[in-house]
Amino acid sequence: MTRTAMATAAPPRISRRGALMLARWTILGTLGCLAISLAYNWLAFRHMDALALRQGLISATVLPIILAGPLFFYLTLKLRELASANHQLAELASTDHLTKCLNRRALVANVERHLDQGDAGAQGALLVIDADHFKQVNDLYGHHQGDLALIRIASVIRSCVRQGDLVGRMGGEEFAVLLGGVAPEQAVRIAERIRQAVASAPLDIDGSHHRLTISVGCTAFSGSAKFRDLFSLADQRLYEAKRLGRNRVEAGADANMKKAG
Ligand code: GH3
Ligand code: MG
Ligand code: MG
Repeated sequence: MTRTAMATAAPPRISRRGALMLARWTILGTLGCLAISLAYNWLAFRHMDALALRQGLISATVLPIILAGPLFFYLTLKLRELASANHQLAELASTDHLTKCLNRRALVANVERHLDQGDAGAQGALLVIDADHFKQVNDLYGHHQGDLALIRIASVIRSCVRQGDLVGRMGGEEFAVLLGGVAPEQAVRIAERIRQAVASAPLDIDGSHHRLTISVGCTAFSGSAKFRDLFSLADQRLYEAKRLGRNRVEAGADANMKKAG
């Protein structure tokens, strides 16, 4: 987001939860100030006559309500807006602007966190996915259609995996997917499902159908693993899938994979 865009952006909307929090802190803050003010005035005026004490307590009640209420409301509102803007910025910083999946940095960080948190028995798989002959799409139909094709691929990948799996764009026409908690055979089945889903949804551009395909390198893990090692192995298998003709999944010895083409 540019500086100008940030400067003109509308303030984030307050959710119902935010509004409740706003009300709670405004009331609690005001009551806190009221209690302090009443206690102070009672201590100060308690030795005086009843009229002075009453007047002292009245001013001790009115002032916090007039001053502290609006002040707490304003401060809490600004804090909520700041928290919400921070959240939006964090999302922008981790999202690929074109495909709306994780960008490379966020994908790597999330996968590393996932692998670090995994216990000794944790298993899963990393897929590295690359569109086949993608340069042709740009050359034949233009860069804009190429962009739309990338958006399509990302959306097909997302539709084939579970909510908690991590999908990221590594750059260009290459994506990576972390499948958590799957056995090697399951990972290959999911990779196959993605490959078939992309291949069976041709691009319709100006009345012509262009068949888009992907190649997938898959590596499974169990126990401790490092992203760098997993990616390197999956990338080698992706290269192998390209070499063997593209539109296929390569998983090495991780599982009995079904070859396609
Ligand atoms: P291969 O099957 O070997 O992967 O062939 P390929 O043509 O897909 O691979 P290559 O690396 O030769 O070309 C990748 C192409 O992807 C070239 C580049 O213009 C295109 N590309 C990369 N990023 C984008 C993007 O954000 N938008 C569009 N439209 N094209 C992109
Ligand atoms: Mg490619
Ligand atoms: Mg590539």
